[in-house]
Amino acid sequence: PLPTIYAITPTYSRPVQKAELTRLANTFRQVAQLHWILVEDAAARSELVSRFLARAGLPSTHLHVPTPRRYKRPGLPRATEQRNAGLAWLRQRHQHQHAQPGVLFFADDDNTYSLELFQEMRTTRKVSVWPVGLVGGRRYERPLVENGKVVGWYTGWRADRPFAIDMAGFAVSLQVILSNPKAVFKRRGSQPGMQESDFLKQITTVEELEPKANNCTKVLVWHTRTEKVNLANEPKYHLDTVKIEV
Ligand code: UDP
Ligand code: MN
Repeated sequence: PLPTIYAITPTYSRPVQKAELTRLANTFRQVAQLHWILVEDAAARSELVSRFLARAGLPSTHLHVPTPRRYKRPGLPRATEQRNAGLAWLRQRHQHQHAQPGVLFFADDDNTYSLELFQEMRTTRKVSVWPVGLVGGRRYERPLVENGKVVGWYTGWRADRPFAIDMAGFAVSLQVILSNPKAVFKRRGSQPGMQESDFLKQITTVEELEPKANNCTKVLVWHTRTEKVNLANEPKYHLDTVKIEV
């Protein structure tokens, strides 16, 4: 059987949330054997996301965990608790059975994913890597590959990171997640931009990485970011005759 792709998506309430999730679901719906783990950054599951998922036509799991207030500050890493909740769910679900083949991928709700990316990550044996477009203050970042092995990083930002790679630039086999039960994203001691490195160094080495996307020469995912919407003309009090979810 095809290995299941588990996509962990942290998401939070904001004016563009449903639009982002709609685009993401439209992509995921075209991928075979994908299980979407959507983790709300909230004290409870929201009605908007619950209704959305019920109609999304995708195998999914709906989790929630709020980011502690003290961590909601500019310059601090985002979505740490949510990604860990997704990891915990995966480990819990597979604790009693022999792990079915599976691949885990962290899919932020605002990025852009080509369908080819999923074909590439599906064959991940341990940890696979590939280029990411529009990130790190450059058109792209990528792992440098020689003779089929990752030997360094093309990046414009902190090239000294052990794994100079964005969250969207790697996938991990379920087997590796299960055999490293303590590997999580850390708040303490984790500087911004070091989350990926801190996580990856718990489960793999640079030598072990599997380059995808034609030896990391193709961009199949883009770290797009959505413009903040202009709500300057939004009335202070509800004025319309109907209530509409946006
Ligand atoms: N996110 C979240 N809570 C927050 C901020 C972000 O759950 O307070 C989610 C967001 O929906 C996205 C991921 O974390 O899926 C990364 O956030 P963002 O896209 O803002 O980060 P950036 O693009 O700056 O790396
Ligand atoms: Mn983003």
